[in-house]
Amino acid sequence: MLCPACREENLEGKPLKGILKVKLPEALRNSKNENDPFDINNYLPVEKEFFPNLPVGNTPLIHANNFKSEFGFENVYLKFDGANPTGSYKDRASFLVSAFAKKFGFQEIVLASTGNAASSMAGIAASAGQKAFIFMPSTAPKAKLVQCLQYGATLIPIQGDYDKAFDLSLKFSEQTGFLNRNTAYNPMTIEGKKTSSFELVSQLKNIDYVFLPSGDGVVLSGVIKGFLDLRFIGVIKNLPKIIAVQAEGSRFLFDAFHYDKWDLQYKADTVADSISVNVARNGYCAVADLKTVDGDVVLVSDDEILSAQILLSQKTGIFCEPSSAASFAGLLKMKETTSKDATVVCLLTGHGLKDIDSAIKKVNFPKTFPPDLEIISEALKLNN
Ligand SMILES: *Cc1c(COP(=O)(O)O)cnc(C)c1O
Repeated sequence: MLCPACREENLEGKPLKGILKVKLPEALRNSKNENDPFDINNYLPVEKEFFPNLPVGNTPLIHANNFKSEFGFENVYLKFDGANPTGSYKDRASFLVSAFAKKFGFQEIVLASTGNAASSMAGIAASAGQKAFIFMPSTAPKAKLVQCLQYGATLIPIQGDYDKAFDLSLKFSEQTGFLNRNTAYNPMTIEGKKTSSFELVSQLKNIDYVFLPSGDGVVLSGVIKGFLDLRFIGVIKNLPKIIAVQAEGSRFLFDAFHYDKWDLQYKADTVADSISVNVARNGYCAVADLKTVDGDVVLVSDDEILSAQILLSQKTGIFCEPSSAASFAGLLKMKETTSKDATVVCLLTGHGLKDIDSAIKKVNFPKTFPPDLEIISEALKLNN
């Protein structure tokens, strides 16, 4: 999957070199203008006939109209990818990997995951009649492990972190010849993750900012690739400002982007498990892509993430997982320097029910009551 010359330089525990990119054919350059309708399927590298039979993508974009009174922002939009079939943005990548596997006759798909890529690939493989082999840290949130098993995948819980699982799964697919879906490594993952940009451009005119959570940096490169493709075909002229948000405890891209530091020995530690990586596997590409489009990376603390999560739940009715709330926490962090009438999109990449152990941290469980309305009303202070 990697460029044969660059792959020789790859070392365990480092960002991957030689990641391949899908290029649109030259004939599509400026083939559209800003008002033309377009069909995303014409800009994907696998034909529709190979797609699994699950409705991935086309997720809702919600105007957060409470945020004017709350923060002065008029136009904040939340793209809720928790609405995907397995509950996360990862379905966009798994969908295309599954289609690619079908087209080229692979029955088995291998991957390493912090949790969501695994539950996603498991579900989509189930729908396509393929077999998924999953290397996942045994400490992943339970719901994500259970999803994999429900969908009938072969789960290999690893006594080690995601980075260990990543390297092991690469060796396993080399030994078996099974298709590897690892994020960044398989170019279909970036390509699948570009689809939200195509949807956004259809859902909303003139987007100024896109905030997105970032771990390995594949959502980041995917979203950028989507906007670059849209500019290439002539549908947009200007790109929105792309802001990647990382957790303070998992800041590989932040340090690489701002300080050109690549060699630090990180041990990621954050409540946002889906963006918890020691090494951003797509690091070289993600930083280069971000520089190309003049984007930025910001950091948020675990407490800012959990506060953003519950604020979203209570002000918008959208319950997303901590990693997703990081994008909104990033906007709050930059609220002084972000114009109040800018059109801002936050990508909310996963569903809150995937990790209730984290969500519990900001709520108080009420004490139990006897089945007696008088006592209950008294306690709720509805009597006075
Ligand atoms: C995977 C994931 C991300 C981050 O994606 P990367 O490509 O690793 O940067 C963010 N949010 C959720 C919910 C995810 O599952």
